[in-house]
Amino acid sequence: MDSWGRMAARADALWRKAREQGSVSWTRDGLRELVHPLRHPAVLSRQRARLILARVRVVAMLFAVLTVLWIPVDAWLFPPALWRQLAWARIGAASAFAVLAWACRASPTPGNGFKAMLGLFIIPVAFYLAAEMIIARAHLGSHSAGLADVYALSPLLFIAGISIFPLTVAESVSLALPVLAALLILRALRAMAGHPLMPNAAVASIWLLVVLAAVSLMAAGSQLHMLYALAGRAAIDPMTGLTSRSSGEELLRLQFTLSQRHDYPLTIAFLDIDDFKAINDRAGHEAGDALLSAAGQVLRRGLREGDAAIRWGGDEFLLVFPYARENEIKRRLCETLSSAGLRRSDGAPLTFRVGVASLPRDLASDAADLVRLADQRMYEAKLEGKNRLVT
Ligand code: GH3
Ligand code: MG
Repeated sequence: MDSWGRMAARADALWRKAREQGSVSWTRDGLRELVHPLRHPAVLSRQRARLILARVRVVAMLFAVLTVLWIPVDAWLFPPALWRQLAWARIGAASAFAVLAWACRASPTPGNGFKAMLGLFIIPVAFYLAAEMIIARAHLGSHSAGLADVYALSPLLFIAGISIFPLTVAESVSLALPVLAALLILRALRAMAGHPLMPNAAVASIWLLVVLAAVSLMAAGSQLHMLYALAGRAAIDPMTGLTSRSSGEELLRLQFTLSQRHDYPLTIAFLDIDDFKAINDRAGHEAGDALLSAAGQVLRRGLREGDAAIRWGGDEFLLVFPYARENEIKRRLCETLSSAGLRRSDGAPLTFRVGVASLPRDLASDAADLVRLADQRMYEAKLEGKNRLVT
């Protein structure tokens, strides 16, 4: 199975677990998800990347403005030669923040999310290093020295910034390390200029930085946990246990893109229960609910790893079969539905109308187009009568 297949299987497993437990719990898998992002379910990764890009964008826009707004403070407290140099560094950093905010409109892939976050940390760290070097060369009076101390505190701000993102431990650490490295580089430069390498104040500030990094890491991890727990719940339709419509659409869009990019077949089947309303009318809504739930179980049982069953709405279901051709799916569906033994309240077998569409055979411009095609064929099946499958 390729990486998509594995990711989709993970997504499915996670969602099932979420449904059974009410949330994603601190199991070994859950912990692994909090430690590194390598095996995160594809759909959830995308949601996380979208959230991260949106947050980086807001923070970058804010800092593009704030970095420049600070220039008058420098001008007030630092000597002219110093604040002018700092002003250029500030304008450079603000421009980089503006470019970053613009770049955050990229598509929400995990890679883009992490790159955006890296940018958000590299820009201020680079500015901090430049500012510290500029300040170190200047001779400062007592009120200027106070402001220089404020500059020296900025790494704490960068580390605290980690806590506003839903990140794994590995990601938090890889963002915190450059900040710590910048601080150590600075100490080494100071030592080369004749200052003591590690005065007590420097040891204390590095210790504070490490403690703050640990707290930020936990805050980022609990955001990630919360995000996945909520996404896991929203991803499951509670009545049938199948993937919910919104997550299913996302999953299908991903599948469609990957199927075209890697040139593998993709088949979808749209199912609608025949005369479902009559069951509600005759046996009541609860009997209808129970039958929907049973149908959900049957459809799930017929899936292989990496396939998905989505409750599209009411008595409609969409099944997604990557790496499967139409004929194979027709055979598998007929077997699954005929051997399911689902019965209506009057004892008659429960039947479906099915419309099937597939890539590369059908010409569809996007996932919605493919669904439209399957839906249309399901409608044609309806015109032909009950218990039909149209491809
Ligand atoms: P057709 O054979 O043409 O598909 O007709 P149908 O009776 O199955 O009706 P249709 O598919 O148009 O409508 C589906 C019905 O399913 C309408 C609605 O009352 C019922 N329904 C939708 N959601 C639920 C649900 O969650 N529980 C129950 N019990 N019924 C539902
Ligand atoms: Mg129906």
